[in-house]
Amino acid sequence: MKSAETLSTRRLQELDAAHYLHPFTDHKSLGERGARIIERADGVYLWDSEGNRILDGMAGLWCVNVGYGRSELAEAAYKQMLELPYYNSFFQCAHPPAVKLAAEIAALAPAHMNRVFFTGSGSEANDTVLRMVRRYWDLKGQPGKKTIISRINAYHGSTVAGASLGGMLPMHEQGDLPIPGIVHIAQPYWYGEGGDMDPEEFGLWAARQLEAKIIELGEDQVAAFIAEPIQGAGGVIIPPASYWPEIKRILGKYDILLVVDEVICGFGRTGEWFGSQYYDLQPDLMPIAKGMTSGYLPMGGVIVADRVADTLIEHGGEFFHGYTYSGHPVAAAVALENLRILRDEGIVERVRTELAPCLQSKIARLAEHRLVGEVRGVGMLGAIELVRNKQTRERFPDKGSTGTLCRDLCVANGLVMRAVGDTLIMSPPLVISPAQIDELVDTAWKCLDLAA
Ligand code: PLP
Repeated sequence: MKSAETLSTRRLQELDAAHYLHPFTDHKSLGERGARIIERADGVYLWDSEGNRILDGMAGLWCVNVGYGRSELAEAAYKQMLELPYYNSFFQCAHPPAVKLAAEIAALAPAHMNRVFFTGSGSEANDTVLRMVRRYWDLKGQPGKKTIISRINAYHGSTVAGASLGGMLPMHEQGDLPIPGIVHIAQPYWYGEGGDMDPEEFGLWAARQLEAKIIELGEDQVAAFIAEPIQGAGGVIIPPASYWPEIKRILGKYDILLVVDEVICGFGRTGEWFGSQYYDLQPDLMPIAKGMTSGYLPMGGVIVADRVADTLIEHGGEFFHGYTYSGHPVAAAVALENLRILRDEGIVERVRTELAPCLQSKIARLAEHRLVGEVRGVGMLGAIELVRNKQTRERFPDKGSTGTLCRDLCVANGLVMRAVGDTLIMSPPLVISPAQIDELVDTAWKCLDLAA
């Protein structure tokens, strides 16, 4: 097979079935039809190899913030490949794209965060987090502070550390995870787990699980608490307003580091540059990835507060940690251009003032559908919870099958949304237009009707 050869859809599907192990896929579910082959994309639309146009309501995997087909990003990559395609920053070297990117990200981050450690992905960023928080407490003379508290149903990546920090039980079951030193508390998922409590009461209850866990383990054993501002892959779980202030109070009381995983919420998704700014958090570490390059090239990182970075630098000597692709020049050049686009086109501000209010008010109408128990969202994130009985919140007996049916109907009708169990979730590119939001909502309604 020549590399430039154009292959038919059928042939691609055969080769796919024979050779390509897909991430997070039950290969048997691909069935006779095989995988859908996505061939190209522009703006907010994808085209498959059969010519179908599909509105990408997920921005790929929550990452194509500036939309598809941005020639500026391709040009930035091309130029950088000719200039300096690769050089790592080990051995006392740096290169212009990584230096400039670190400085630009520091300028966007909360004021007390001025340094960035680069990684190749969000999972790697969370591996770095684990190493960094333990190293920090060692250097502070408190080596017992090793345990990291996370939340059930959190997603923090797919490597051994990432999946352990995450709280996805099916992932834990497949790898004898979590690794030692990571524990999980309840998530602030009011609609699903709030019982008789009102949202604010439940938010306080969920936050206080953290305090209970710290007391149970002993504060001298707890290194950090990790959480997303809004849980994305867990089902777009938006904490009640009481949750984050109480978490902040507890962490302050016990001197425990706050790791805010910004892999989804970062780079504009909430209408602020970071979800931490949306919720007024002062993190010690912020893992980032995805929207950093709008997914055009793989890249991640950890934004580090001065308190942590100064300790590592002043007292730590060499930190035996880094990746071949840390601060990759081409990825960094693309990230810089991506930031320029976000800034020059006022995308983050437009999300805050125009697009998020538009998306949220329009998806709210889906709550009138008889299959829908709750619609929730913040910024350009949304979730539609499907239930059998709206009044009692009774779930469907075969968990996930209605969500999967709706998701498949949506794709067949030209819209990508994801299904998390029986919750449909969305995270469209930040450049979607109000007319395209109408198209998203109309298609979702039509597919709910088809599924009902
Ligand atoms: N953290 C969060 C919150 C994520 O949503 C993800 C991926 O979806 C990750 C970490 C892992 O990022 P990656 O897939 O780039 O390794």
